[in-house]
Amino acid sequence: MPALREFARDQLALAEQKGLRRRLVETERRGPGMVRRAGRDLVSFSCNDYLNLSHHPRVIAAATRTLQHEGAGAGASRLVTGNHPSYIELESLLARMKGTERALVFSSGYAANVGTIPALVGREDLVLIDRLAHACQWDGARLSGATVLRLEHNDVENACELLNTHRQSFGRCLILTETVFSMDGDLGPIDELYDLARRHDAWLMTDDAHGLGLIPPRPADLQMGTLSKAVGVAGGYVCGPSEVIAYLENRARTLMFSTGLPPSCVAAATEALRIMGEDPGLCARPIANARRFTTALGRPPAMSPIVPVVLGEPERAMSASAMLEENGLLAVAIRPPSVPPGTARLRFAFSASLQVDDIDRAAGLLKEHGHA
Ligand SMILES: *Cc1c(COP(=O)(O)O)cnc(C)c1O
Repeated sequence: MPALREFARDQLALAEQKGLRRRLVETERRGPGMVRRAGRDLVSFSCNDYLNLSHHPRVIAAATRTLQHEGAGAGASRLVTGNHPSYIELESLLARMKGTERALVFSSGYAANVGTIPALVGREDLVLIDRLAHACQWDGARLSGATVLRLEHNDVENACELLNTHRQSFGRCLILTETVFSMDGDLGPIDELYDLARRHDAWLMTDDAHGLGLIPPRPADLQMGTLSKAVGVAGGYVCGPSEVIAYLENRARTLMFSTGLPPSCVAAATEALRIMGEDPGLCARPIANARRFTTALGRPPAMSPIVPVVLGEPERAMSASAMLEENGLLAVAIRPPSVPPGTARLRFAFSASLQVDDIDRAAGLLKEHGHA
């Protein structure tokens, strides 16, 4: 057995060979839609802060006020002393946006999925999950111990076949998919899957991490999401019927055994949700910006704020990203295992504050260099 250090060195060398070695790059956030890397300001097409609410003066004021009065950390799990009073409004705003009875906030979207899924299904049960679903849905499914079957992407027919063949051999059945796919920007067939779930005595749980506030919500048994993307802060949530939420308060291990969000985050996210409710014009801008880009590239209109430019091998995505960065634009390359092998890409995430000139320039540079 190699020593731990050698083990790590070998693994890194392998990743390097395949063009898949990752490195953390220091990045400062420099105001709405801007970041700074290696001393240069860049227009960001890679922040998921779609509404730029992380820099909204009201959100910052809410966080600052709470930070000053209540300190930096929550001190304990929500079930002990970490349940700040702002959660009441935060969760009622979330439930209202999703059209559900209640909501429950976790410390991240990742924690929401990994805590909720194993509370719903176990060894006797079945999970169907879209092959492109986010890593934390997959992790929750695997951690549950249920039998996990992979669905072809957005293939309702495939889901129907699998349910016809396997449903009766299992106890409970959970279907997992995304409302907006995080790396492709296409929409999940939520209404069709919800119908299918009704017909096969299954539950549908959707991941709306990239949809909240930007795409109208679709009904599902449970709708989870994050407060770290359009909401601009941090945290995750699950929305659903009141008994289910009360059950999760008792059973979701990532809620029970992890410290609550800092009070300043709870207050900031609450203020951000209020702003989202007051400003439909702001909420429309990210997709309008994404559509300007797809039009410039001669592609069908974007369905969401996410537009992938798939380039194939990792090296090609890395060099396209470097080319844009030299021109002051940041679109980080996304490589396996975040996306399937052979589909390395630039993932463009459009925020409200992007300027049309920068959008047009990004499209022009991609075309000029034969990337689109
Ligand atoms: C980002 C993301 C998550 C995780 O949310 P965090 O709050 O960042 O932990 C979950 N699902 C999807 C689809 C995501 O894109």
